[in-house]
Amino acid sequence: MALEDYETVIGLEVHAELSTKTKIFCKCPTAFGAKPNTQICPICMAMPGTLPVLNEKVVEYAVKAGVTTNCEIERESKNDRKNYFYPDLPKAYQISQYDKPLCKHGFVEINIDGKNKNIGITRIHIEEDAGKLNHDDFGKGSLVDLNRAGVPLIEIVSEPDMRSSLEADLYLKKLKAMLEYIEVSDCKMQEGSLRADVNVSVHKPGEPFGTRTEMKNMNSFRSITRAIEYERKRQSEILDAGGIIEQETLRWDDVSGKTFSMRDKEDAQDYRYFPEPDLVAIKISEEYIQNIKNNLPELPESRKQRYMNEYKLSLKDANGLTSSKYLSNLFEEATKITNNPKAVCNWILSDISRILNEEEMEPSEIKFTAKDLAELVELIEKGTISSA
Ligand code: ADP
Ligand code: ZN
Ligand code: MG
Repeated sequence: MALEDYETVIGLEVHAELSTKTKIFCKCPTAFGAKPNTQICPICMAMPGTLPVLNEKVVEYAVKAGVTTNCEIERESKNDRKNYFYPDLPKAYQISQYDKPLCKHGFVEINIDGKNKNIGITRIHIEEDAGKLNHDDFGKGSLVDLNRAGVPLIEIVSEPDMRSSLEADLYLKKLKAMLEYIEVSDCKMQEGSLRADVNVSVHKPGEPFGTRTEMKNMNSFRSITRAIEYERKRQSEILDAGGIIEQETLRWDDVSGKTFSMRDKEDAQDYRYFPEPDLVAIKISEEYIQNIKNNLPELPESRKQRYMNEYKLSLKDANGLTSSKYLSNLFEEATKITNNPKAVCNWILSDISRILNEEEMEPSEIKFTAKDLAELVELIEKGTISSA
């Protein structure tokens, strides 16, 4: 059977580091890039006898993410211990949420070929990040940096609702934009503050879903697309040859453009989840949720509509600009100065976006200001310089 004859099914588990000032269970700062082990304390180092205290902001940010993705917010949820051993996890368990996550049953709308499609959100839960291992260059050993241990995360688990790498790309971009708009995460993929586990399976039309494989910790849109394309081809070739797909965890290698087996798939039972006895249940009131809903900032959808009305932009342009909060802020600020929305929009969506893409840069890394962009547009309008 040809590759095109198989149906592809994709589900994503997205981890976003929350941009709270302090960690989830202690008062250590969360800033990225500090010297190793300078943002630690007995709690996040897991010294015996220490006790965690939940950072209220984490709950607030997670509920914000939940209402933005149309989730039901649980009035009562709890924390659980997920047990596993790894040198970057000194407690030998991660405090997460198992059977009572904070948010459930949401969806994110994507636009594909001019049609809207909802991608279901199974759940959003809060958890702590682990530390980091720095492997030395001489093969002599690894050093443990615990600065990241206890940095708050939300994990957003999607339903297996995506059917192509394009849908997965659109979904992740939309989710990233939403989290940026509500300012709960800076979503810097190169710094690892947004990363996705990508689950892929293939099956023949009309048959049940196939066995999935999972590629962990992916942090670039381009690699995710390549990895999905590689994996659906690999799986369909195995099926064509009469083989079966093993459920396993894979590692995507960007250089060779292939996936490699990391380990057999672990199940929930392998983690021996159990309730975290050192934390009380998280109880939130209806007013609390309502208050968060009432105070949400303008989201991509409404901003898009506003751009079409206010600046007479096309749906495509409005979509493109609002796909990033940073780019759309740049657009609005530059337009205030030059009053030439179309030209500003064209610069952002053509040359600027192309370069960002090629360099795999975040919009926030752009080194010029809205004023610079406005001046450039004016110089071209006046004929002082050509657009080339
Ligand atoms: P785990 O935590 O063990 O990885 P979950 O039940 O949380 O398992 O699901 C992980 C992800 O796998 C979800 O995003 C889900 O949508 C996706 N998924 C489930 N079944 C399939 C499938 N047959 N093909 C592709 N993705 C799937
Ligand atoms: Zn600490
Ligand atoms: Mg998983």
